[in-house]
Amino acid sequence: MMQTVAAALACAREVGVPRLDAQLLMARVLGRDRAWLIAHGEDPLTAEEQASFEATLDRRAAGEPLAYLTGERDFRGLALRVDGRVLVPRPETEGLVDWALERLDAITDIAHPDVVDLGTGSGAIALAIAVTCPHASVIATDASPDALDVAAANALRLGVPLRLCRGSWWSALDGSARFHLAVSNPPYIAGDDAHLAALGHEPRMALTPGTDGLSALFEIIEGAGAHLLDGAWLLVEHGHDQAQDVRGRLSARGFVEVETRRDLAGIERCSGGRWRGR
Ligand code: GLN
Repeated sequence: MMQTVAAALACAREVGVPRLDAQLLMARVLGRDRAWLIAHGEDPLTAEEQASFEATLDRRAAGEPLAYLTGERDFRGLALRVDGRVLVPRPETEGLVDWALERLDAITDIAHPDVVDLGTGSGAIALAIAVTCPHASVIATDASPDALDVAAANALRLGVPLRLCRGSWWSALDGSARFHLAVSNPPYIAGDDAHLAALGHEPRMALTPGTDGLSALFEIIEGAGAHLLDGAWLLVEHGHDQAQDVRGRLSARGFVEVETRRDLAGIERCSGGRWRGR
C-alpha cells in the first residue's frame, strides 16, 4: 500500500525508533532535509523509497547506530563520514579536544608543534585539532588498516593534511618521533562489561582492550616517555571509574601537573599530565 511521508514516519514510532532518528533516515532515503519532510508530509513515497526507509528503520530498531545508517556524524562541527569500520565519535570526546587545544594554545614558542593522536579511528580527534590549529603538525595512528582508510577519506574530504601511521599505540611511530602533545581515546571498556552487548555494531577492538579495561591506557602511559619532548602533555580519555588509576599511573611514570577533567554529564572522563623528561 502506498504510504505518505507522514504515515511512514508515524510507523517508526511503533517500532520504537525516535522521531528525530526516523526523520534523519527518511531525509537520507529521499535525498532531502528535515524541513522538506515537514512541508511534504502528504507526499506519497514510491515503493522503492518505502522499502528502503523500512529497511533502515529495521536496522535502527535493531540497535545499529544512527551514524552508520546516515553515514555521517558531526564532531565539533566537522561532518565526519563513519561506518562499521570505526567507533562512532562521542560528544564526550569533544572535551578531550578542547583540552588539547588549550595546551596547544599555550605553546607560543614553537611554530609547528608536533601532535599525535593514538588510535584515531575515524580521525575525529586528529582532524578537529588540525582544523582548529592549522599550524600544528598532526600524526594519527591506528592498528586497524580499515580505520586508517576511513580517517584518510575524512582528511581528504575536509582538505586537512594528516599523516597516518599504522600500528599499535606508540609502535606505529618511528623510534625517534617526539611530540609536544599526545592525545588518545583508546578502548577502555573491560572485556566482560555488560555494556559491550549494546555496542555490538561497533568494532570490538575500538571499545575493549580485552579483559582489563585499563591495559591500553597503561600501555600508552608506559610508552609515552620515549616519544614526548620535555614539558609535553599526554591527555587520554577513559571510563567513568578509571580516573584514579590513570592519574596514579601518570604520576608513577613521572608526569607532573596530573589532573582529570569531567565531561558534560559530570563524569571524570579525561586525565592527563605534563612530561618531565627522565
Ligand atoms: N565512550 C565509549 C562508550 O562508553 C567507549 C569508547 C572507548 O572505549 N574509547 O560507549
